[in-house]
Amino acid sequence: MKNISILGSTGSIGVQTLDFISKTKNEFKVCGLSAGSNIDLLKEQISKFKPLIVSINSQEDSKILKKWCINKKYKTKVYFGKEGLNKVATIKTASMVLSSVVGAIGLEPLLCAIEAKKNIAIANKESLVMAGQLIMKKAKENGVSVLPVDSEHSAIFQCIVKENKKSIKRILLTASGGPFYKSTKNFKDITVADALAHPTWKMGKKITIDSATLMNKGLEAIEASVLFDIPIDKIDILIHPQSVVHSMVEFNDGCVMAQMSNPNMTLPIQYALSYPDRKNCYIKRLNLAEISKLEFFSPNFKKFKCLQIAYNCAKIGGTMPAVMSGANEIAVKYFLAGKIKFDMIPKIVEIVVKEHKSIKSKNISNYIKADLWARQQAEKIVKNLI
Ligand code: MG
Repeated sequence: MKNISILGSTGSIGVQTLDFISKTKNEFKVCGLSAGSNIDLLKEQISKFKPLIVSINSQEDSKILKKWCINKKYKTKVYFGKEGLNKVATIKTASMVLSSVVGAIGLEPLLCAIEAKKNIAIANKESLVMAGQLIMKKAKENGVSVLPVDSEHSAIFQCIVKENKKSIKRILLTASGGPFYKSTKNFKDITVADALAHPTWKMGKKITIDSATLMNKGLEAIEASVLFDIPIDKIDILIHPQSVVHSMVEFNDGCVMAQMSNPNMTLPIQYALSYPDRKNCYIKRLNLAEISKLEFFSPNFKKFKCLQIAYNCAKIGGTMPAVMSGANEIAVKYFLAGKIKFDMIPKIVEIVVKEHKSIKSKNISNYIKADLWARQQAEKIVKNLI
């Protein structure tokens, strides 16, 4: 039995991971859970999985939760805040930590988990974008693996797992294109509801907005570059509206390998958790005759400015991707709150990125500082706009 700790257990990936675990019998034991503010769902998860440790964001919620656990006679220990996240990330009995926290807040617990020699299943792409090279270096030093949970990266991993890295010619990162790929609507007029209506994937709000601007694909290109140690100019984006081919890898001899399945996050989650084994199928099996048509298009970098910004930032490297990701998080937050228009997201990110002078550093604190600086700058721009 594999002992697993989950950071971000009440988010979309966390919920789907627990759902998968509950379908398997005696294969996984959940020993730690952390949540943001969804105390009711965390209570349900505690009742079902009886973890040793849980953590929630605020101290007030942790007090409520502690009382509740005592009343229920559960032995689960309750923590809160950053310290709580780090406790869940380093819990002694866990051999694997799945990080599905959204945003830069996931970086510190991720590093703690690696230092505590936990294998990592990573869905927190912002941490990899922020300081991916340092994370991968630390993982190597501690002899732990970082397994992708993002569907595209799981696909790439599955295509190259038995291959020599030197044989890779390029990566073809597929994208559904989001809700506006074919839309002629002016980006100014796109509402929050429009942007949240993703055609193929049901996900959390932040990633759904990132998918609508295609920033998600930009973040994923950087994530792929870091995870597989491939230069960004060897990573191409391919729009594929059916979301059946989750990504492809072209090799030196011209062979192209693709990983396909119906779009369902259970498969990449289960592969990361069970690797190197392949377990039973819990999703609808692929029926290509039923789907009948798979389409592929080149992306429109002019329409989706975030994609171009992400490639530019990746080429500059150093602290620049952290700045881009931090500014984007703030812009998305204000768009979701109805404070700024959709077309302002790339504009805000672009202004912040242009003001930053990237540095290459081996010190993690410089990446955290760059992210914080970017957030402050983005906040300032938004405040001037509203
Ligand atoms: Mg993805």
